[in-house]
Amino acid sequence: MPHPLAGIGASHAVNAEAFDSSRIPFGRRRRFLWASLLLLVVALLVMLVWLAGRYEASQVQTRLERDAADAVGDIRARLIRNVQSLQALQFNDPTPNAWRNEAGTFLRQHRELVRMEWRDNELRTLSHADTPFRSSVFARYGRDSAHSEVLQACRTARRFSGPAYSSSYFVPLVDGLGMEVLELCLPLVKAGQPAGYLLATYALQELLDDLIDGQRVRGYEISFTEGDGTRLAVRGTSRKGSRVFTAQQLLDLPGTTLVLRMDSWRAAPDLFPNVLTALVTAMAIALVSILALLGKDMRRRLKAERDLADALAFRKAMEDSLVTGLRARDLQGHITYVNPAFCQMLGFSAEELLGQSDPAPYWPPELVDEYQKRQAIRLAGDLPPREGFESVFMRKDGSRFPVLIIEAPLINAQGVQTGWMSAFLDISEQRRVEELSRASHERLQATARLATVGEMASLLSHELNQPLAAISGYATGSLNMLRDGPHTTADLSLALRRISEQAERAGKVIKSVHDFVRRRDQVREVVAPQVLLDAILPLISLQARKLSVQVKTHIEPDLPKVLCDRTMVEQVLLNLARNGMQSMDRPDIKRRLLQLRVARAKTPGREHWVEFSVSDGGHGITPEVEEQLFTPFFTTKAEGMGLGLSLCRTVAEQHGGLLAFKPNEPQGTTFTFSLPASGMT
Ligand code: ADP
Repeated sequence: MPHPLAGIGASHAVNAEAFDSSRIPFGRRRRFLWASLLLLVVALLVMLVWLAGRYEASQVQTRLERDAADAVGDIRARLIRNVQSLQALQFNDPTPNAWRNEAGTFLRQHRELVRMEWRDNELRTLSHADTPFRSSVFARYGRDSAHSEVLQACRTARRFSGPAYSSSYFVPLVDGLGMEVLELCLPLVKAGQPAGYLLATYALQELLDDLIDGQRVRGYEISFTEGDGTRLAVRGTSRKGSRVFTAQQLLDLPGTTLVLRMDSWRAAPDLFPNVLTALVTAMAIALVSILALLGKDMRRRLKAERDLADALAFRKAMEDSLVTGLRARDLQGHITYVNPAFCQMLGFSAEELLGQSDPAPYWPPELVDEYQKRQAIRLAGDLPPREGFESVFMRKDGSRFPVLIIEAPLINAQGVQTGWMSAFLDISEQRRVEELSRASHERLQATARLATVGEMASLLSHELNQPLAAISGYATGSLNMLRDGPHTTADLSLALRRISEQAERAGKVIKSVHDFVRRRDQVREVVAPQVLLDAILPLISLQARKLSVQVKTHIEPDLPKVLCDRTMVEQVLLNLARNGMQSMDRPDIKRRLLQLRVARAKTPGREHWVEFSVSDGGHGITPEVEEQLFTPFFTTKAEGMGLGLSLCRTVAEQHGGLLAFKPNEPQGTTFTFSLPASGMT
């Protein structure tokens, strides 16, 4: 199972490179893409708004065209109906007077007509009638002024044998104004022969006002125009300054054609002509805003990504440069991460380690039980000591090496523990140095002991030499005296006195050496048993590690302090422990346990004594060895001095106690000695 962090680290190294090598071109390309996108969106939106506006305008135009066509249709229909009504006027062959009456009635019903005339074949007027709604149209210049238009219309009418219209023309009125009119000429036929004409004069203004459905043209300006745009008649008014839509329709009449023009003064589409455009514009604004926000967000994300890549690259560089091994485990004990230093330390590759749990491939087989217990304790949530603990790991090639492990819980961003993070230091080199210093320290001690012994021996021999030489001289002299003849008893007794004196002197020498040893009595101090053990444990554990011995201490609670020569007692404990460990240094001994116990003495009468015992599981003491065990210089070891136990016994006895030993169960030996509790003396 590849560790996620490892993956991230690797991929980020690549990312970071990509960022570095192509940062500028990539940034420029991204800016170009963003600019293009923005441009496209803006263009699209402008087009959309424009199209919406255009659509709106075309809608207005179409409606206008349709209304114009309808208006033309209205006028045409009414004109046709008028022609039919006018033809009906002639049916019963009226007299001129009767005709005038009927024409008068007709004019009252049709405001669009201003005058009606009945003319004969030569266009002479037989009868006429004017509209009652205004003064006579032709009052100012006379009817003849319009003769050419009448002629034109009637010729056309005769040619078509049907109604025909003249082109429109202007008639000035008496009040100074004028009006545009149009002649309709209707040829009359009687028994198949032409029987004169019926003339009707239409006012263009009234055509617009009366013939078009008012509902249809509301909101428009409607007019008849000439080809050049001159207005002949207008209905409605145009609003100034606003956009005007225009539609033109031709009103085709027999003999003439009128142009009907319609202008809409409806306001041109404003900024928001209708809901559609407003909607599109709102959406456009929203889209641009979202784009801007997205851009901002993207910039922020890119920055965060770059920071993260930098941080990861930094972390990876840091991890790779570490000489400390790092390992992460999840809560089930599976390895989830290892750094290069850890792999290098063990000789395993990361793939061989990731996902492994119990037993880990780097656990020495003989220590698997102990490590499993330790892991179980850890997984149960027990915090390891902050200063770390020592352990032994096995490399891939099978070699063991000591490590210092510092563990800490692995807490994720949510504050939940997801496993354990451990740092490892290979302390083989440190151990080697310590071992070297211990060995040299031991050698020094041995040398010092030898020096002391040698010194004492030479002192003794020097001091004893003289009295012994004197004794020997006196003895020889006495013997000579006895052999050579008569001597006085006085001489002999003198010699013997001298011998006695020298012997006494020798005794004094020996006593002084004894006193030298006893001088140490003065340095006794009160000390807690724990302190004594603590002082020697570091020294013991050095050798214990070397000989793969496990050291256990048991101290009875609430023990009193003891009164002792601390240095000497420590020396005793050290000697006994060292002997015990050495006795287990044999290939056939697998269980190597050294136990140091301190408890109250159980021997009756010694309740105020504290008993120290050192037990080993070694080869034990044979009866032959036992015989000479405390003899100075007796040893079974190649490099032994044979002074250790005799010194220990001396020290034990100096403190008023005894050094004893007994076999240990199931094997080995237990040495014990006791010291007085401090309150006792
Ligand atoms: P050294 O340790 O220098 O040999 P000692 O006086 O301390 O001198 O020990 C004398 C001998 O007693 C040792 O050589 C060893 O044979 C024997 N001896 C001492 N302690 C033990 C022990 N715990 N188990 C077996 N033999 C021991």
